[in-house]
Amino acid sequence: MLHFSYGVMGSSKSAMLLMQRYNHLQLGHYVVLIKPAIDTRIDASTVYSRVGLQAQADIVLYPEQSLYEQLMWLMARQGHSDFPYVFVDEAQFLTEAQVEEIANLAMDHEFYCFGLKTDFLGNFFPGSAALMRLAEEISEVPGGLCWCGAKATMNTRIDRNGNVIKTGDQILIDNQEETRYIGLCYKHWKMGKSHA
Ligand SMILES: [Zn+2]
Repeated sequence: MLHFSYGVMGSSKSAMLLMQRYNHLQLGHYVVLIKPAIDTRIDASTVYSRVGLQAQADIVLYPEQSLYEQLMWLMARQGHSDFPYVFVDEAQFLTEAQVEEIANLAMDHEFYCFGLKTDFLGNFFPGSAALMRLAEEISEVPGGLCWCGAKATMNTRIDRNGNVIKTGDQILIDNQEETRYIGLCYKHWKMGKSHA
């Protein structure tokens, strides 16, 4: 089954992923952790959450790669014959082809994808659009709040002075210095107001 859990910047997506993965590990399940290569926070293979949990991804997946091929390589290396539980962090960065591959594999395996629904302009990422089309279970990771206290639903790109940025490429990684991302409620995202 293909599960997609989406949440805004500042929700606890990665923490939730790591906790669910941990529950499976405690039961002795073989769990594969995948991360698209584009996210460079800390380093390419670390799945990191703001509350301090982290784990190393088993597969760092590049856009041109087949997920199935990478899973086959991993199992050969680790001596497993199946991949019953697969978790994907930052799933918005999957390509449409990779999500379609996952949808087919998920007929016989459990795939848990976590990621953003939309970019800083409010448009789908290709990976999230495909997941919204094909996931068999879609749920929202709660917890993101706007500075006004309302539920945050929109991802917002801001510069080092807190100014809202409404132009630029869809993917520009959060480097904590020049560019950061925060979650805002729809009203304050629309107004471009990132603080009181
Ligand atoms: Zn607000």
